[in-house]
Parts: sequence; structure tokens; C-alpha cells
Amino acid sequence: MNKHLIDYLRCSLCKNELTYLPFATGQKGTNSSGELETGGLFSCSCGMVFPIISQIPRLLPESFLDYEAVIEKNIPDYNIVKSKILAKYREIIDFSITRNKSIKQTFGFEWSLLHTDKQVNVWNLNDRQFENQLWDELKTEGIDLKEKVAVDVGCGHGRSGMLLAEKCGIVFCLDVGASIEHAAQINTRPNCIFIQADLNHLPFANGVFDIVYSSGVLHHNPDTKAAFSKVSALVKKGGILCIWLYKPFNNGIHRIMLGLRGITTKLPLKLQFWLYFFTLLPIHKSIGLLKGKSKGWREIMINQLDMLSPEYRHEHSPHEVEGWFKAAAYTHVEITTTNNYGFSIKGTLAEVVK
Ligand SMILES: [Zn+2]
Repeated sequence: MNKHLIDYLRCSLCKNELTYLPFATGQKGTNSSGELETGGLFSCSCGMVFPIISQIPRLLPESFLDYEAVIEKNIPDYNIVKSKILAKYREIIDFSITRNKSIKQTFGFEWSLLHTDKQVNVWNLNDRQFENQLWDELKTEGIDLKEKVAVDVGCGHGRSGMLLAEKCGIVFCLDVGASIEHAAQINTRPNCIFIQADLNHLPFANGVFDIVYSSGVLHHNPDTKAAFSKVSALVKKGGILCIWLYKPFNNGIHRIMLGLRGITTKLPLKLQFWLYFFTLLPIHKSIGLLKGKSKGWREIMINQLDMLSPEYRHEHSPHEVEGWFKAAAYTHVEITTTNNYGFSIKGTLAEVVK
């Protein structure tokens, strides 16, 4: 059992501490650090249970239903447990199932394009540029990160979390979608812990993280500012919050693409993939060749899917988001990186809130 997990994790519904119960059968195996030797589940005094599947704690409100077959085999009185949970939390669970369904599919599919041995750039950045950009966004020069506890909310492919884990004490990487499984599989760092969770039901106590990082995630929620408040609650006093968001981009093609979303977001994901594969991909490839900048098809498709498939895609001005940070008692608020499409902004939570 990984000590870090039980120390930090909380029930994502009531925030109480969790108890680990190993499964008697099945799900055997070890991760790279030799921890979590068997599968099991976390249980809460409120009645909730959260399974650990493929060494990944599944802390969505609906996770026990997603993996019902495994839990059923391991808990003799599962039907009683289930009916008690549903009697208490049915509304929240039903809402979460509906809300997370498209997120699980859309982003799980988007990041599945990275399931290859080949080097794939993400956001037009190679590995070295991606790493440099992360530290440019966070601007942690002069801070000793060795003992710091960080969380990457909406970790996607998991690269940022693993880079954070090279310097920080412990890093938790959260994602709603199935992409968490691939991210966890390629993780080589025992201090980097992947968890399937949702920012609307964060499985941590408030105010416990030195660094809260969330890149390109909050704007894919119905209300970006409400999502900001959820991740901000995790930051401890003196801790850093750093987020990357889309900003308005005054460009004709960009506006056409945004207009297309009125249609594309309603299409089945597989159809979208093949549609972009045979239309937008050749256009991008041709423009790239003309400009002498050749990109791989996976990289182009990730960009297209991120633009056209998510149900929500809000844009915010840096000035507006600076206001959110200041209203939430952050100091040293600054825009750390910016490009045509978006910007990163960070702030330090005041030690004393006035
Ligand atoms: Zn609970």
C-alpha cells in the first residue's frame, strides 16, 4: 500500500478519510515501486467505495459502477453496499455519469493518439520544448521543490506530472478519462501517482498542495471560473496555482473553426476523427509543407480534436483571469507564457488573507 495515497486521499463526495481494503482475489500485480501489490478498494465512513483497478485508484463518484463486476467478486454484501450508496448519493452519481460520459470519451480518444513508440509532439512542442515550457509556466526558480507536494489536475497524457515528479517530493496526476491508464503505464516514477478523478469532486482535503497545476483543462468545463475555484481550493497558503487557458484569438480561420463547433461537437467521435483525417489533416499537411514545417499526423489530429470535439471550449482574456486570482487572495500574479491561442498565469496564495 502506497503510504502517500492514504495520507492524502479523501472521499471525493464527503471529504472524509479513506480506509484501504485489499481484494482477496484477482487484480494481482505490482507497480514500478512494488506498491499496491493487489487491487483493492477505498471505503469511506459515508458508505462510498472506490476501486483500485490496474493500480489506479478510481475516485469518480461513479467509479464503483464502472468497475462493478470486479467489486462484486470481492465484496460479499455488495448489493447492500450499492443500495446504501445510491440511496444517499443517487442524484450526484447520476449527474456525474452524464457529465463525465463525453469527457471520458473525447479526451480519452484524443490522448490515445499518443499510444505509440514514436516520438509525438504535443501542442507543437517536442519533449525538450515541452519541458522548458512547463518550467517557464511555473517559474519556480529559487524554490526548493524536493519536499513539495504537487497535483496536476487534468493530466491527459501525463507528461507534465512526470516532469514535475523529477523535481518535487510527490505529484498526484488526475484525469477523468481512460487516458489515465496509458499515462500510468508509461510512468517510471514512484513519486508520481495517477488517479482517475474529476475536478468537481476532488479527492483531497482543501489547502494541502504546494503546487496546483492545470493546463488546458478548466476552459473545457461549463463554467471556467467555477472550475478555477475548485482547483484553487487545493492550494495551501504560500502555495502556487498555475493554469493555462485559451484566450480570444482574432483570426479568420480560428473564427471559422469556432463556428464549426456548432456542428462538430454533436457528431460521434469516430466520425469526427475520420472527417478531420480526410479533410483538415491534408490541408494542414499541405500548409505545413509550403511553410517548410512538417508535423506528424498524430500531432495535427490532437490539435484538431481539442479544438472541435470538446462540448465546452471557453476563451478568457488574461486580464479577466488575473481578476479571479486577485479576488481569491493570490499575490505575485503574473502571465508567465503566452501565444496566439492562450496563456499561462500563476499566483502565490497569500499567507494571511486580508
Ligand atoms: Zn465519504
